[in-house]
Amino acid sequence: MTPDWRLDWAQIERQLRPLLPERAVVAKRQELLAYDCDGLTLHRHQPPLVVLPETTEQVAAVVRCCAELGVPFIARGSGTGLSGGALAEQEAVVIATSRMRKVLEVDLANERITVQPGVINSWVTRAVAGDGFYYAPDPSSQVACSIGGNVAENSGGVHCLKYGVTSNHVLAMEVVLPDGSVTTLGGSLPEMGGLDLRGVFIGSEGTLGIATAITLRLLRTPQTVAVLLADFASMEAAGEAVRLITGAGVLPAGMEMMDRPCIHAVNDFFGVDEYPREAAAVLLIELDGHALEVQESVELASRLCLEAGAGAVREAWTEEARARLWKGRKSAISALGRQFPSYYLQDGVVPRTALPKVLAAIERLSQEHGLAVANVFHAGDGNLHPLILYRAGEPGVNERVKELGAAILKLCIEAGGSISGEHGVGSDKRCYMDWMFSADDQATMQLVRKAFDPDGLANPGKIFPTPKTCGESLRRLVELKVEGVELPEGAAVF
Ligand SMILES: Cc1cc2nc3c(=O)[nH]c(=O)nc-3n(C[C@H](O)[C@H](O)[C@H](O)COP(=O)(O)OP(=O)(O)OC[C@H]3O[C@@H](n4cnc5c(N)ncnc54)[C@H](O)[C@@H]3O)c2cc1C
Repeated sequence: MTPDWRLDWAQIERQLRPLLPERAVVAKRQELLAYDCDGLTLHRHQPPLVVLPETTEQVAAVVRCCAELGVPFIARGSGTGLSGGALAEQEAVVIATSRMRKVLEVDLANERITVQPGVINSWVTRAVAGDGFYYAPDPSSQVACSIGGNVAENSGGVHCLKYGVTSNHVLAMEVVLPDGSVTTLGGSLPEMGGLDLRGVFIGSEGTLGIATAITLRLLRTPQTVAVLLADFASMEAAGEAVRLITGAGVLPAGMEMMDRPCIHAVNDFFGVDEYPREAAAVLLIELDGHALEVQESVELASRLCLEAGAGAVREAWTEEARARLWKGRKSAISALGRQFPSYYLQDGVVPRTALPKVLAAIERLSQEHGLAVANVFHAGDGNLHPLILYRAGEPGVNERVKELGAAILKLCIEAGGSISGEHGVGSDKRCYMDWMFSADDQATMQLVRKAFDPDGLANPGKIFPTPKTCGESLRRLVELKVEGVELPEGAAVF
């Protein structure tokens, strides 16, 4: 069915209200403001209508109604996404899961838990920590982001270096499909046979339907955990330490890097000198497992850091000492946000051996574009997070910021990497899909999408480029001679 763009929103609201509990429809302009962007504040679009269902049945009823009326819909978790995935660029009903926050079942004997999609990531560990379990994927936004959003973005985090990303920890999902029917993808066993439709759904950014219940794997809390803090006189030296440690066969639970702007921002934020101010970069390395194994790994990793040029290596063994070291890393983006209220966070990924070269090139691009860039990232898996810092409102700054972001992603691809390590493509990076995927690749992905959503109503316009959405922005990059950028076919008409 072709969506009807002359939608009568008052009429749609009247049809949706009876399907939902009291006060579960948001339609007032000032209240809708809360939904006009996600964590990527560069773009804003206020949706015409937001609904707040509490159960799978209510989600299904809303989606069924949308399907009958030909109205697009967009799932929204906590709105911390950094690729504009939950953005209502075109008129759509936003289905927010913030009232779907129940833990449905805890099954410790089988090491799994089933939750509604609006449950916050860190609540999962909180629910089972007392029994010696935890949930491994831990985005830095874990105190705010939802499990539904994590599934949609296939989110990563500090501990994904050793334990894998969200996809490795989701056993099954109850899903409302775009026609309003309800199905289950995956099952209670790690390997279910047949096509892995669970795997297809994870990372599909809300374009295949809405997850309404998710069964997650739980892990046992490791016996011993230690965290190392090593400081370096250059980013390249820190990158070399990453290479040496992984090359020696040490697999840290997490290995994170922060550069000088981050170090200063975090120290200033907390009014402490936790991280050495004179350092150009620090590495945080977490090692976990049995006590003896951790002790050996700590000794080896420390030695390799010093070999790579570390000034000093500090060890933290108690929970309190470890938390103190991690606190700054986990708050780095907020700390930078205090100094620069506007930032544009990129999410390129490169083979970790390419880190030193790529970091140096980002520094060069930052100077060329006259915009400060801070780096705080998952160094162990080569997942860069350059934060382009700027002051919103400066004439032309949004365009300059986007240009620098695009140039950084281009660099990542040239280094053998990708345009997204964990934040998804959304609306922000769809114009760069052509840099990685051929027209045939994308047509195949669209076929999969159409199998779930023949009418294209679920989160339309996301992930895939069109001449309309990408012609202008790519034209600007071509004018600026960003290396390797070409206009897609059809872009000339805009
Ligand atoms: C400070 C900060 C740090 C971050 N650190 C990390 C990090 O370390 N690792 C990382 O991977 N990400 C990180 N992120 C990005 C973000 O937190 C994740 O992408 C997160 O998974 C988004 O969850 P959300 O609930 O906020 O989703 P939203 O932003 O609300 O939505 C994201 C996407 O998910 C879809 N969606 C939401 N719920 C559902 C559902 N139930 N069913 C189907 N689709 C759904 C939406 O349509 C949208 O496309 C960070 C963000 C911030 C602001």
